[in-house]
Amino acid sequence: MARSEQERLKAIAKAAIAWFTEHHRDLPWRKTRDAYRIWISECMLQQTQVATVIPYYERFLNRFPDVHRLASAQLDEVYQLWAGLGYYRRARQLHAAAIEIVESGQTPFPTHRDAIAELPGIGRYTASAIASFAYDQPCGIVEANTQRLYARLIRCKEPLSDSSTQRTLWEFAEAIVSAWPHPTGELNQSLMELGSQVCKPRDPACGDCPLREHCKAYRFGETEQIPAAKPKKLITDLREIGLLISDSHGRWLLRRRHSGERWAGLWDFPRYDCTEIQSESAALEFVAGEFHKLYGKRPEVGSQCMSVRHSVTRYRILLRCFEARLEGRLTSRRKQSDSELDSYSEPDSYSELEEFDWYTTEDLGSLALSSSGRKVADWLENRGS
Ligand code: SF4
Repeated sequence: MARSEQERLKAIAKAAIAWFTEHHRDLPWRKTRDAYRIWISECMLQQTQVATVIPYYERFLNRFPDVHRLASAQLDEVYQLWAGLGYYRRARQLHAAAIEIVESGQTPFPTHRDAIAELPGIGRYTASAIASFAYDQPCGIVEANTQRLYARLIRCKEPLSDSSTQRTLWEFAEAIVSAWPHPTGELNQSLMELGSQVCKPRDPACGDCPLREHCKAYRFGETEQIPAAKPKKLITDLREIGLLISDSHGRWLLRRRHSGERWAGLWDFPRYDCTEIQSESAALEFVAGEFHKLYGKRPEVGSQCMSVRHSVTRYRILLRCFEARLEGRLTSRRKQSDSELDSYSEPDSYSELEEFDWYTTEDLGSLALSSSGRKVADWLENRGS
């Protein structure tokens, strides 16, 4: 790298840290160098806002203060503490990674970026962030905030999602930390915070930005054009019917969603995609038939009692719930161990995967439910009060 470029990067690093020292937010995960804690915060912060994460982070660490406690927990307990954060796959992978760390003897936490990156659910960014924040290893980082900041600093006009853009941004991130002869944890925190608080997606606060004199997008008046607008997501509308099936004791039938399904491992009311079915009577007939295939009993479906609208990735879902009853008893089926259901990848029979149980309305409060399932449960609870 040319000496002048190295000096420019060093000046960027210095200005970012000076700004951070004065303006940073006081966040709980910034008060620790414990890699385990930093890892938990990084997992929770993926796709989730800081203010939402803080109470979850504190509750989670009270219950699982180290990797041993997390590894020895039941997955259900982990889900319970995660319920409401969404993207439950993260909780599942967190638990799997904790087990792997303990079993491989890398406790309290792996100490090198490459070893961290081998763990389930940890990508290049998370591994680099942990290695840098906890151990000051010289790792650049690229995430939502820094990628926008870097794109503007270097005037990168290509879409951020292009693989060539990502390569360029990672090179820039690594170049900054290489040019900085001091510990990198604070530098990376500073760059992330600047991206989040000053170099915002819309109306970046260039007037307050300590990097203005180094910013090519600013110099060329292109801060609104960079980064390039994302291609519009194609939204697909889905219509689902859920069954609220109660027994003679007033308990509700719930099933556990299995691997290969959305929200794997969480409990939910039986629900069926009826998007392609036009008439309501045909949809209810379909739902009753599907239920019968899985559980060997045909529900008597009553009237619609509530509905929930929610979105998952590119799907916009309308879930309409109907009360229903079953003739005769349906005995619960629970798996014996966490690995039992996870081991199914290509089931011969879908019904073999079904794990279901009956819960009172009060029980639903402590059950790990999908977020739309939680809305239905809350509705049931409020209806009863
Ligand atoms: S000058 Fe403006 S666009 Fe450039 S890094 Fe600072 S806030 Fe972002």
